[in-house]
Amino acid sequence: MLDWSLRHCSRHGHVTYRPDETDLARGLSSTTDLGDVWRCLRCGDFLLGEPVGSGPAAAAPDVPRGHALRDRLIIRSLAVERAARAVMLFIGAYPVWRLKSNQTRSWASSPTRSARGGYEAFKAEHASESLLTVTRSATVEPS
Ligand SMILES: [Zn+2]
Repeated sequence: MLDWSLRHCSRHGHVTYRPDETDLARGLSSTTDLGDVWRCLRCGDFLLGEPVGSGPAAAAPDVPRGHALRDRLIIRSLAVERAARAVMLFIGAYPVWRLKSNQTRSWASSPTRSARGGYEAFKAEHASESLLTVTRSATVEPS
């Protein structure tokens, strides 16, 4: 099983911190024959040397570890997938949008469908003999 904390520390380095509170600092450090060691806030390994940061415990860096790191990686990969999907959707939709725009333009610029010719087109369509007119003329009896 992959240890996400170790993997992240191997890529980005360990995070050590010396809190000002002595009881917390005692829990995060130890003394060896080689010198003081500080515990990594992410992976829990003890590291020789001085800590990277120091200050009050409330100001300590928020270091995600374990499942939080895995969840962060999954969320980032989902975001990349969604962005790629959006680009693919745009690439697929752009030709359709262009085609529709061209059809609308040609429809609006036709002489019978233009705004000025709208009433003329309406009259032309209704001036032709409709089925009702044909039926009436067929039923009229000669006198
Ligand atoms: Zn570490």
